Amino acid sequence: MKPTRFGPSLYGTNRFCMASSSPLHVAVIGTGIVGASAAHFLAAAGARVTLLDASGPAAGATGASDGAVSVASKRPGPMMDLARHARAFYVRHERDGLFRGLFHRRSTFLVARTAIEADLVTRHGADLAAAGERVVEVDRATLLARIPGLGDSVCAALEIPDDGHALGYEITQRLLATSRVDIRRNAPVSEIVMRAGRACGVLIRDEFLPADAVLVAAGIGSAPLLGLGEILIPRKGQMAVTDRATTAGPAIDGHLMAASYLAAKRGIVRDNSHIGLVIDPLMTGQFLIGGSREDHRSDHSTDAVTIAAILREALDLYPPLAARRVLRSFAGVRSASRDGLPIVGPHPHRPGVVIATGFEGDGICLGPFMGASAARLLLGERPEADLSSLSPQRLVRAEVHA
Ligand SMILES: Cc1cc2nc3c(=O)[nH]c(=O)nc-3n(C[C@H](O)[C@H](O)[C@H](O)COP(=O)(O)OP(=O)(O)OC[C@H]3O[C@@H](n4cnc5c(N)ncnc54)[C@H](O)[C@@H]3O)c2cc1C
Repeated sequence: MKPTRFGPSLYGTNRFCMASSSPLHVAVIGTGIVGASAAHFLAAAGARVTLLDASGPAAGATGASDGAVSVASKRPGPMMDLARHARAFYVRHERDGLFRGLFHRRSTFLVARTAIEADLVTRHGADLAAAGERVVEVDRATLLARIPGLGDSVCAALEIPDDGHALGYEITQRLLATSRVDIRRNAPVSEIVMRAGRACGVLIRDEFLPADAVLVAAGIGSAPLLGLGEILIPRKGQMAVTDRATTAGPAIDGHLMAASYLAAKRGIVRDNSHIGLVIDPLMTGQFLIGGSREDHRSDHSTDAVTIAAILREALDLYPPLAARRVLRSFAGVRSASRDGLPIVGPHPHRPGVVIATGFEGDGICLGPFMGASAARLLLGERPEADLSSLSPQRLVRAEVHA
């Protein structure tokens, strides 16, 4: 086979090149933030990209989420380290113009309301500092000066000053608007087609679309495509959104993250553990308030009991919310892997297929960086960060087949 313009590379020869001088053609399944990012960076490198979505851009979790680009919320270990890379990726592309006006730096405040929560926040702060993150202890008086009206129950807080915010659907739109990719809406992929031991395209209903390589970035839709039913589960999240403040810009000086959210992320079960509270001040002056974590729920309905529980906790943490109108509630579906880590890398048994899914509640933060990393893998290049802990290979003994 003749090498194409994409190989060979530092990361070994390009396993996805075909014997022609035409550019690599990649079928990307899923037009969420991850697929859009992969498509953008593949196209920027000269590949031909067909983006396929069962519905349309940002129709999945990306369009029904909050936008915390937060290292503060991550479990210690690979997730915290990768989130630092991912946030730096946002900063870099805010500076070079790609994410200009869409990514905003702002602090995360981790707040505790009981002695047990204060202990959890302190331990988490130590983990963040050990990972190289700036962490500032904030006493109640200082916190009240920064966030007037904060609830009486708040007894301890840490500020993580280098976090940020971006709305997933805005980032997705920007990535697509700035690339030459072919987007096909209402194009549900039912099968990845293999020929002579490697991927040669996909089936969209009865239509065969040939491709040199396939990226599966279909969020929870990746599970049936890859036979990951037991490994990748849907986790519904409900949120509420308020009206706008009369003043422009965020209504408070940072993102409030309750210890209950950290507990949910660190796998610590509490009585009301299906709610991990965050109060997120948007650039519009609105608040996004969330959210629930409901396993094996893939519907998009909201219910009064869950929304009421979220709002009760939110009012305890930040009573001034009582003066705001709740405009609407909505729900999105996260894709959660059994071991809590995303699944990113070449398919263990299907040459020509790369997987990038399982981002649970972290895909707005990680998505652009992970999409770019998946693009590098498809191009035969080494990703900027070590992704070995996310490798689909770890699931081989479990269930990745099909
Ligand atoms: C309530 C809530 C709050 C959140 N808050 C945050 C937050 O603050 N910070 C953060 O970092 N993350 C957050 N997340 C998580 C984040 O939204 C997701 O991790 C991220 O959007 C996942 O992006 P994705 O591209 O992998 O998947 P998705 O956005 O789900 O995109 C997958 C796409 O694939 C398409 N698709 C599925 N199956 C097929 C098929 N067979 N053929 C063709 N197309 C298909 C779907 O239509 C969809 O458009 C939140 C999520 C929820 C639900």
